[in-house]
Amino acid sequence: MTAGRLAPSPTGAQHLGNARTYLLAYWAARKSNTRLILRIEDIDSPRIKPWATQQAIEDLSWLGIDWDEGPDIGGPNAPYIQTERRERYRAALQQLIEADRVFPCTCSRKDIQAAGSAPHFEHESPIYPGTCASWKNNQPLPAEGTYSWRFRASDLEMKFNDTVCGPQACNPAQHLGAFPITQKSGDPSYQLAVVVDDAAMGITEVVRGDDLIVSTFRQLDLYHALGYTPPRYAHVPLVCGPDRRRLAKRHGDTRLSLCREEGLPASKIVTWAARSCGLLDEHQSVRSASELIERFQWNRLSRSEVVIDPATL
Ligand code: GLU
Repeated sequence: MTAGRLAPSPTGAQHLGNARTYLLAYWAARKSNTRLILRIEDIDSPRIKPWATQQAIEDLSWLGIDWDEGPDIGGPNAPYIQTERRERYRAALQQLIEADRVFPCTCSRKDIQAAGSAPHFEHESPIYPGTCASWKNNQPLPAEGTYSWRFRASDLEMKFNDTVCGPQACNPAQHLGAFPITQKSGDPSYQLAVVVDDAAMGITEVVRGDDLIVSTFRQLDLYHALGYTPPRYAHVPLVCGPDRRRLAKRHGDTRLSLCREEGLPASKIVTWAARSCGLLDEHQSVRSASELIERFQWNRLSRSEVVIDPATL
């Protein structure tokens, strides 16, 4: 059976750009009879807001998206909130320690900034210089709270064929370097949590923003190290403002909660998203997200960024 997921991070309000990605995940799943799971990714950020989980659930429902499992309705893969799944991340970490795939790293961001080599990809941190990498799993650990666990990236070409972006390849050791899979607090990083959860929940189709393509190589490396089967990926272009920069506060307030409060009908956003995904032409509109399931086709989606002037909504 195939399964997809909606994975909001409750670090703040969900906005128009998120809406488009969630709608795509929903249309793709419903069109192909894929189970859809809602998972709240509240573990890897100091920016988690207590109110944002409930708000994200309300935003998704308001858009007309529904799901088969989630924190609000339960299901066979519960719990659906990452902070309630810590045991699973610890077990995976233990497996990686035993396989000598990780090492405790006491370096600070500054240390790495100073000694690391220039990042290979835009927006990535410098490549880890290997300072702590000689540790072996029969050696003692540094003091609790002073280290994070870092994964030894594989020195081989990793490839995947993205549903939207086509063939992708990268050598994680050379182009990304060893990367952290926990914080110094011991909490798992996004990379570890997302792999453990997607594997445990049987996710076969991942639809998310194309800013995560580089992370996918780290995640594929973890999949192989943990012996899991990776899903299929569809990385969708991000939504940009008129200046072609990623949609953000400077482009105006595009929070879905604000749209709701101001009485904007969800069908306006659904229609905009559907037009931008090639599912409707400029004169067509719909009343609800579900009307587009039958029309959905990946090959109608353009690979280039989507530009919106929020004022036009
Ligand atoms: N939680 C992430 C976000 O909201 C998505 C991560 C993923 O889809 O893998 O940006």
